[in-house]
Amino acid sequence: LADRLESAWKKLRGQDKITPANIQDALREVRRALLEADVNLQVVKDFIAGVEAKAQGAEVISGVRPDQQFIKIVYDELVEVMGDTNVPLAQAEVAPTVVLMAGLQGTGKTTATAKLALHLKKIDRNCLLVATDVYRPAAIDQLVTLGKQIQVPVFEMGSDADPVEIARRGVEQGKAEGVDTVIIDTAGRLQIDRDMMGELARIKEAVQPQETLLVVDAMTGQEAANLTRTFHEEIGITGAILTKLDGDSRGGAALSVRQISGQPIKFVGVGEKVEALQPFYPERMASRILGMGDVLTLVEKAQEEIDLADAEQMQEKILSAKFDFTDFLKQLRLLKNMGSLGGIIKMIPGMNKLNADQLKQGETQLKRCEAMIKSMTAQERKDPDILASSPSRRRRIASGSGYKESDVAKLVSDFQKMRGLMQQMGQGGFPGMPGMFGG
Ligand code: GDP
Ligand code: MG
Repeated sequence: LADRLESAWKKLRGQDKITPANIQDALREVRRALLEADVNLQVVKDFIAGVEAKAQGAEVISGVRPDQQFIKIVYDELVEVMGDTNVPLAQAEVAPTVVLMAGLQGTGKTTATAKLALHLKKIDRNCLLVATDVYRPAAIDQLVTLGKQIQVPVFEMGSDADPVEIARRGVEQGKAEGVDTVIIDTAGRLQIDRDMMGELARIKEAVQPQETLLVVDAMTGQEAANLTRTFHEEIGITGAILTKLDGDSRGGAALSVRQISGQPIKFVGVGEKVEALQPFYPERMASRILGMGDVLTLVEKAQEEIDLADAEQMQEKILSAKFDFTDFLKQLRLLKNMGSLGGIIKMIPGMNKLNADQLKQGETQLKRCEAMIKSMTAQERKDPDILASSPSRRRRIASGSGYKESDVAKLVSDFQKMRGLMQQMGQGGFPGMPGMFGG
């Protein structure tokens, strides 16, 4: 009855589904956060429209406001859009793997070339660096110096040679020496220009790289979008490295780059030192992007409410053997609130292979559990052990819930087993499972 009252109440307020009307404030908030994080305006529009369409009509989770839930959906979508990045650097079937660095001048290409080499070195891949920036005085020296510092060889032909030729010979050299990765540093210009694009395209054509990484300065902000579009259209990139994230940029460039090129950010630069390169973590970036104002707090709040309620308290209880039938019932209700059991089960790793019959059985089983627990007294819920030793209590519960005494006995013994198991695992998790489903 309580459930039905609640859903009627929500219908009355029109809050049981996500609609354009009940997420107005949230939309405005998210828009502002994204813009303040320097996400390109058009990217913001497209992204939000996409998420809104996706969220439209979604059932609101019990206890969570539609706007909160929407912000949570935005956050998840941000993570997903920027995801995919644990794909490590591509590797050629036949060595060497060729990585071509592209980007404007001053974005950190040369630094990133050395950083990447060091990163690969740490995972036992050996590199050859190739210096093709013949335009800026000292650009070749810069790479040579960095190479010495990290003890990785650098291939160069001085500043009179043709960059395409240097790249080609560099890769040949790498092949001859049996290195597994050749990283080609290239020249940049302050602005995108024909010459630079033409040269990059010719280098790419000549060396057929497995990776063409666009190096983007995170401080570029809004401009990152145009930059990415141009490079992707003219050269074709396979990923990006976002540099200077140690500054106060809010990382919006990450979303722009990803949304426009469809290619993953693979690494981030977080300092001037050669060690300052990290794999890209979508969650961190999503938090950083939404880190403005109250948005992140809202995400956290919604997350908390969506997550199994008071998980921590629950965990403590589990560990201290105080987890009782009342807690169990709470968890069962949460399961029900969160949607059909089938949907939940699919999210649990390794549990997605249950067939329809088994799922149905699981649902039925949950209903049985709930019915029996409802027929228990407060004391019995608190202390399941008294049920283990009292057939008369079990009989009373059985007749109250419409099941057999043996069903109640099994519930109690399964519960005890489960509780023991949870304590052993030391971290609890879903109530569940051995014997409870289909047992
Ligand atoms: P390139 O012209 O694209 O080759 O850029 P460089 O590699 O020469 O870097 C330009 C400047 O940016 C240098 O002073 C670098 O030390 C600095 N730099 C590069 N990456 C980072 C980074 O992740 N964080 C910070 N703070 N500085 C960086
Ligand atoms: Mg350079």
